[in-house]
Amino acid sequence: MNQTELNNLIKDLTLRVPQLEPFMYVCKLRVLTSEEYAKIVPPPMPQTAGCSRKEFIFNSDFIDSLPAPKQRGLILHEILHGALGHITHPFIDKTLTYSSFKLLANVAQDYVIENIVNEIGKQESPTAKIEDRQIQCNYEVDATLLKYNGWNWRQVYDELRANAKEIPPQFDQHGSPDDSDSDEDANNSERLWKAAREESERINEELKASNTKGTGDIVIEPDVAIIPWQETLASLLTSIPEKTRKSWSRVKRRPFVTRGEYQPTIAGTRDALEHVYMFIDTSGSMYDVLNTCAADIMNLLHTIEVEKLELIYYDVGIQERIVVEAEDIKNFKIHSMKGGGGTCVKLAIDEVMKSEDYVEDAVFLVLTDGYDDYRLGDVNINSLIWLSYGTAIESDCGTSIIVT
Ligand SMILES: [Zn+2]
Repeated sequence: MNQTELNNLIKDLTLRVPQLEPFMYVCKLRVLTSEEYAKIVPPPMPQTAGCSRKEFIFNSDFIDSLPAPKQRGLILHEILHGALGHITHPFIDKTLTYSSFKLLANVAQDYVIENIVNEIGKQESPTAKIEDRQIQCNYEVDATLLKYNGWNWRQVYDELRANAKEIPPQFDQHGSPDDSDSDEDANNSERLWKAAREESERINEELKASNTKGTGDIVIEPDVAIIPWQETLASLLTSIPEKTRKSWSRVKRRPFVTRGEYQPTIAGTRDALEHVYMFIDTSGSMYDVLNTCAADIMNLLHTIEVEKLELIYYDVGIQERIVVEAEDIKNFKIHSMKGGGGTCVKLAIDEVMKSEDYVEDAVFLVLTDGYDDYRLGDVNINSLIWLSYGTAIESDCGTSIIVT
């Protein structure tokens, strides 16, 4: 399989998983010879495939050795690692060394991922036997695997970890004993670290010995993400039916589930979005990025079909509200935005939701710079995406992405 074939396959397969953490995709992929692969991932790490936040890498010998349905399964598998946020998730188990945590987290993700691959395979070939499906798992589809169907990876992790051994009690609270100052504390810390190290080593050994029947892939150290966000957003928006979009904003409220941890529902596709509310933050701090922002919006409008767009310029409340009908959208120009002092997106959103012509099933896109309080409280918005031109956005609703 060459680079182009693989690239096309990835694009195709990515569209089948529209309901995942939408902006965690890596943008680059490389097919490497075994020798090249070994330079990046030195043995004894598995020499098969891997992904970091920057790229997917595949060992060409390995991928060529698989039958086509398993190749697809493997590629999906890596995409899903990307979508689940690798292990760069805020959750890190400090009772283990980072490398042991990484190993265990990878196994936990694998169980979740292979279940999703199994579901997608089933959906693709509903009447076929498992061995005749066009997309196949690299794990055996048996009770061990199916047990975890519907779980998120943190739940799987917690179970694997609980079965491993009891956590030394004090590690529950603080992972790093470095801040202790008395001798006694220091001794205590040392003892606890020793216990954690031993536990780590034991898990490493256990994982090696169990010779996990999975893909034997790896998740590489986290790095700065490069995200083809316009493309991804466009395919996300158009590939998700209204019914499914409704679950976006609720997803985070499920117990255990935070960014990157939820289990996707598999969805169909739709051609156009009926109604989009696009909120544009016009506060002073957005000034430097206005041109980029305007270009991004125009790009987006050329990529996705929108039947009706409402642009809402806001700072503390709505400054201007413009309705653009489908036939005018492609020729529409963003005008220069006049910025005020502070910002409060909640006020602007409330105002829209209270208006008489409010469209309940609309998609909300908010372009902002991260300097606001983005908690919306108990609003009932079906789908909301924050696009930040500044710092990360913490909100109790929707999905966020940094676009700069
Ligand atoms: Zn994996």
